[in-house]
Amino acid sequence: MAQKKRIALVAHDNCKAELIDWVGLHWPVLAAHDLTSTGTTGTLIEQLVSEKQGRAPGNLLRLKSGPLGGDQQLGALIAEEKIDAIFFFWDPMHAQPHDVDVKALLRICVLYNVVTACNRATADFIIASPLFSGNYDRKVPDFSGYTGRLLAT
Ligand code: PGA
Repeated sequence: MAQKKRIALVAHDNCKAELIDWVGLHWPVLAAHDLTSTGTTGTLIEQLVSEKQGRAPGNLLRLKSGPLGGDQQLGALIAEEKIDAIFFFWDPMHAQPHDVDVKALLRICVLYNVVTACNRATADFIIASPLFSGNYDRKVPDFSGYTGRLLAT
């Protein structure tokens, strides 16, 4: 994991205000990294940053809205090892139309050993970590035993 991290930012509707507030607070740090967001979360980040600095962020890739496939697009990026960390403020109080996608995204984060924050306290700890601004050797598990399981003669 290089100094410049590839970071995903996602929030469910009831958690968007919290994530946007957090992004605003930490924008001086986040501005130096490559960001990816689901659609609506990304639009809110664009609005926030445009208000702050007078122009849209140049470091944000906006995917489809989560329920329309954005979570799956993000999962695919993780499977391709193109995401280092995710800040995903998911809603523990309301079922989502795309619950299966949310579960799949969280599963793939764990599988690929992606740095994952699902609430603000964890997000605060991660962004305050010296590892966040430095290099870090994130171990992606060796799946060769699995992929070769039926191939041995
Ligand atoms: P959204 O998606 O940012 O488009 O609202 C959030 C989600 O993945 O649930």
